[in-house]
Amino acid sequence: MLIKRAATTIEKLDALGGMARDDILSRPEPSPKSSKGPKQPYTLQARNSLPGVYRAALPNGKFINLMRVMFTDFCKYDCHYCPNSTWVPRKRYGFKVDELANAFMELHQRHTVAGLFLSSGIAGSSSLTMERMVKVVEVIRKKHKFNGYIHLKVMPGADYHLVEAAASLGSRLSINIESPTPEMLSRISPMKDMQRDILDPMSWIHKLISGGHGGAIGQATQMVVGAANETDWDIFQRMEQLYSQWNFKRVYYSPFQPVRYTPLEEHPVTPMVREHRLYQVDWLKRVYRYSNDELKLAYDDGGFLPHEDDPKTSIALQNLDTFPVNVNEATRDQLLRVPGLGPTSAQRILQNRKAHSVDTWRSLQAMGVVKKRAWPFLYFPGHRPPRAKQLKLDLFGEAAREQRKAGLAATQTPETCGVATSCAGCPMYGTPGHPGA
Ligand code: SF4
Repeated sequence: MLIKRAATTIEKLDALGGMARDDILSRPEPSPKSSKGPKQPYTLQARNSLPGVYRAALPNGKFINLMRVMFTDFCKYDCHYCPNSTWVPRKRYGFKVDELANAFMELHQRHTVAGLFLSSGIAGSSSLTMERMVKVVEVIRKKHKFNGYIHLKVMPGADYHLVEAAASLGSRLSINIESPTPEMLSRISPMKDMQRDILDPMSWIHKLISGGHGGAIGQATQMVVGAANETDWDIFQRMEQLYSQWNFKRVYYSPFQPVRYTPLEEHPVTPMVREHRLYQVDWLKRVYRYSNDELKLAYDDGGFLPHEDDPKTSIALQNLDTFPVNVNEATRDQLLRVPGLGPTSAQRILQNRKAHSVDTWRSLQAMGVVKKRAWPFLYFPGHRPPRAKQLKLDLFGEAAREQRKAGLAATQTPETCGVATSCAGCPMYGTPGHPGA
């Protein structure tokens, strides 16, 4: 007789920790400095070979070991891009409330993890699943007196009182929007109603956080890029609304990867460079405070960001009449619009020129300016770049464009990578020879 044995906690952690890794809502901040890829490591790294334990970035930029786990990977929804959807035939797992709370506390007491990222598939109903997740966090907070970082996913369509409870217990909340518009969402996630299931809970969270309710300090969300044939401009419009209207801390972009057995299994993979261009625009919006009119210049006629130029360079190339800027007289905003120059180097230039004129590339490079990218756009006594007309020929000419394309082709893609099919979780991302190197 075949006796079926229940999965152990370690087996569940192994399965559900691996599934939670697909969610990128606590990845390190990608740097926009490189035109081809982020410079700093961009991945969650599995730690100590313990299932479900990853190194992740906190909202304040510090790194901690985080237990990233799903409450269950069973889901009654049929999202076309998701390995947890009803389309995929495989064994599913689920924790009990105390089992997960105790597993987390054990790892915490051994100093293996300092925080928790908890998400879930939708088992039963959104509210039932949310209620169980809230109970896990309640046990950890109230019974075990854990005061550290907890990122809690809000289930789409969960009741208000559960969202309220999540806001009072979690450090950060998130609910995945997945697609920029309701029509696009219904194409890839037919059972979800964007207004009722996602936008309404987002507005509740915003009101609860801004009203000082509980301990949550912000909300974030994630979009699947390339699954619904949306343009980069569609994504920008939604991203802009989330930051300006609801004060989102972060919007994350997850490149689409086809999942076997789903209706999108033949749909093309989204190239990593598209994801990176979206993060660069996001950065220009949040950190550099570019206006929407300026950012619009980065998009082509079809609403996509060109892959061969980073958005900051694309915008500068279309505003050549405003360059070169005089290093010794430019305002902070003017300096920030120069490719190859960021907030830190702009601040250093402003600081240094109080004492003396800046007049060599060596001193600019010591302040963090990337000469290779900045030379056509900066002017100082020791350097006078070509006039706008000649620059247009130098930078827009066919030869220059081909060169940029060749540079782009030299970077890795998921097809040539051989290590992973996605940047998320790839241990090679950011190392020499890979995007971000
Ligand atoms: S609701 Fe979430 S877990 Fe369920 S299928 Fe959709 S994306 Fe996957």
